[in-house]
Amino acid sequence: MMSSFDPNDKEAGIKLLEDLTSNASTIQQQVLEEILTRNSETEYLKRFLHGHSVDKENFKKNVPVVNYEDIKPYIQRIANDESSDNILLSQPITELLTSSGTSGGKPKMMPSTAEDLDRKTFFYNLQVPVMNKYVDGLDQGKAMYLLFTKPEIPTPSGLMARPVLTSYYKSSHFRNRAFNKYSLYTSPDETILCHDSKQSMFCQLLCGLVQREQVLRVGAVFASAFLRAIKFLENYWQEMCLNIRTGQITDWITDQGCRNSVSRILSGQNPKLADLIENECGGKSWEGIVKRLWPRTKYIEVIVTGSMAQYIHTLEFYSGGVPLVSTMYGSSESFFGINFKPLSNPADVSYTLIPNMAYFEFLPLEEDENREITQEIPGNNCVSTNNHCEDMENLETVDLVDVKPGRYYELVVTTYTGLYRYRVGDILMATGFHNNTPEFKFVHRRNVVLSIDTDKTNEEDLLNAVTQAKSLIEPLGFLLTEYTSYADTSSIPGHYVLFWEVIDKAGNDVKLDDATMEECCFKVEQGLDSVYRRCRRKDKSIGALEIRVVKHGAFDMVMDFCLSQGSSVNQYKTPRCIKSQESLRILDSMVLGKFFSQKTPSWEPHKQDN
Ligand code: AMP
Repeated sequence: MMSSFDPNDKEAGIKLLEDLTSNASTIQQQVLEEILTRNSETEYLKRFLHGHSVDKENFKKNVPVVNYEDIKPYIQRIANDESSDNILLSQPITELLTSSGTSGGKPKMMPSTAEDLDRKTFFYNLQVPVMNKYVDGLDQGKAMYLLFTKPEIPTPSGLMARPVLTSYYKSSHFRNRAFNKYSLYTSPDETILCHDSKQSMFCQLLCGLVQREQVLRVGAVFASAFLRAIKFLENYWQEMCLNIRTGQITDWITDQGCRNSVSRILSGQNPKLADLIENECGGKSWEGIVKRLWPRTKYIEVIVTGSMAQYIHTLEFYSGGVPLVSTMYGSSESFFGINFKPLSNPADVSYTLIPNMAYFEFLPLEEDENREITQEIPGNNCVSTNNHCEDMENLETVDLVDVKPGRYYELVVTTYTGLYRYRVGDILMATGFHNNTPEFKFVHRRNVVLSIDTDKTNEEDLLNAVTQAKSLIEPLGFLLTEYTSYADTSSIPGHYVLFWEVIDKAGNDVKLDDATMEECCFKVEQGLDSVYRRCRRKDKSIGALEIRVVKHGAFDMVMDFCLSQGSSVNQYKTPRCIKSQESLRILDSMVLGKFFSQKTPSWEPHKQDN
C-alpha cells in the first residue's frame, strides 16, 4: 500500500499524491481488505466476524463502532501480559503510544508496530513536494523546527509507552529523515532527544540563533509549543547571547549529547552576532521578532487549527507577517491528512485524508439551531455529541469518498495497528475534494471544553474537579450555584479560568478569603487529568489555574444575553466553556475577586494506567 519515493523528486512526489487522491475508493477498499486479511485470526475480529468472509459489508454489519472504553480491556492485557500475540493484531506490537486524550484520567494507549514507522515516514515525505510546490528554494537553507521528546514509561509487559512523536523522533526513521544528512535542520538530533525540556529548548534556540542567516523556515508541532519557545527566548536571550559572545555553553547544560552537539555549532566566539541579537531582543517591543531574528524565514510551520486557533493572533504579533502553515493532521491512532494548500489563511485550512493511511469512515452529524453539532441517529433520536450514551448499535457510517461537502462528520478509523471502527473523537467538516478524495476542516474534538497545550479537558472531568474543590467551601456554609470556564491565552503560558458564582445560605454574595480560594484552585488542578497535570508541572506549558468569583446574578445576565441572541429558553444550559466575547465581558464586569493556584499539582512520570 506504500510505494517508496524520493522526497527530493518533486515531480514524482506530486504524481504520487495525484495517484493516491484520484484512486481513493479503490485504495480504501484495498486497505480494508489488507487489514482484515492480516488480522482475521485475532481474538478481537474473531469475536465479531466468527469466521465470516472479511468483506466490507460483513465488516460493517458485524464489527461495532467503538470508543476507547470498549477496547481498553484488550489494551490493558497487552500492557500487562507477556504476550500480546493476536489479541488485536497479528503483527508484533513494538510499543504503546500514549495519547493526549485520556480515559479515567490517564492517557489512552494505542498499540504500534515497526511497520507503522514506515507509514509515518511515508506520510512525512508526502508533505515535502507539497511545500516545495508553493515555496521555492527551501533546499537552499535550514529549518529551525523546535521538537521535543517526553519520558517513556515501561509497562508490566515490557512494552514501552511513549507519545507518538517521541516514538518517531527516537526511531532510525527520524535520524535518517529527508535532508537530515545534509544538515538542513538547525536542531541537532541530540537536543531533540534530551528529555530535560529546559535544556532541550535552550540548546535548540541557541542553535537556531547561531544559524539564523541560513534559516528559511521555523516551527514546532503545535502553535502553543512555538509560543512557549518565544516566551523562553524572552527569558533567556541574554544568557544565549553570552554563550554566543564567549563561545562557551552555559554550565547548567549538563546533558552530554546537548553539550557536544551544540559546541560543534557554536564553534568559537562571535561578539558581532551577540550584539546583533541583543539589539533585536533588547528593543522596546517584540512585535515581528521572528522575522527580525530569522530574516530569511518564509513561513512558520505550526498547527493553528482546532484548539490551536486561539493562538493565531499572538503568533501574528510575533511573526512579522510571515505566513502560518499547518501542514498535517494526525494522532496517536494514525496519521490522517495533509494540507494541500499550505499557504492558505489559517481559517481556511483543510486537510485531505491520505487514503492509504487507514480505512476511514464517517458518522454523519447535524448542526441544530443553536449551532450545536449533534449525532444523526436513525429514528430521529438525536443525541448531543456531548453525551456519552449514544446508541452505538445504530450508528451508520459513510465511506471516505461518499462524504458531502458542507456536512459535519465524526471520524472513525480502522488502522493497521489494531483499531477497528474506532471513534477518534474528532469532528470534521467536509469542505470539498482534491481529485476524488475529500478535504476536511478540523472543527473540534468531541466533548473537549478546555485546551491550552496538548491537554483536552472535557465537561465531565471539569465537573468532577469542580465538585472536589467546592467541598472546601461548603462546610463554610457557602454554595457554588453556577460555574463556567475559559482558556485564557492572553499571556504565555495560557491558563484555565473558572468563573464561580458563590452565595451564602441567605442568597447573598460572600467574602471568601484568599487562602481558601487558592486551595480551591489547587484542588481543581489536582482533580484534572494526568495530561493537564503533566503540562502544568513538568512541561510548564500551562499556568496556574484561576478562579474568578462573580457577583450573584452574573450567570443570569449571561443567560439573558444568550436568549437575546436567539437561544431557546427551554434548551438554554449554562455553557461550561465561554466562547462568546460578550458573555466573557459580562462575567468579567461582575468579578468580586480573582484567585490563583499557589501550588503545582502532582504528576508521577512513571505511573501508567495499566
Ligand atoms: P494525540 O493522539 O495526543 O497525538 O492527539 C491527536 C489529536 O490532536 C487529534 O485527534 C486532534 O484532536 C488533535 N490534532 C492533531 N492534529 C491536528 C490539527 N492539524 N488540527 C487540529 N487538531 C489536531
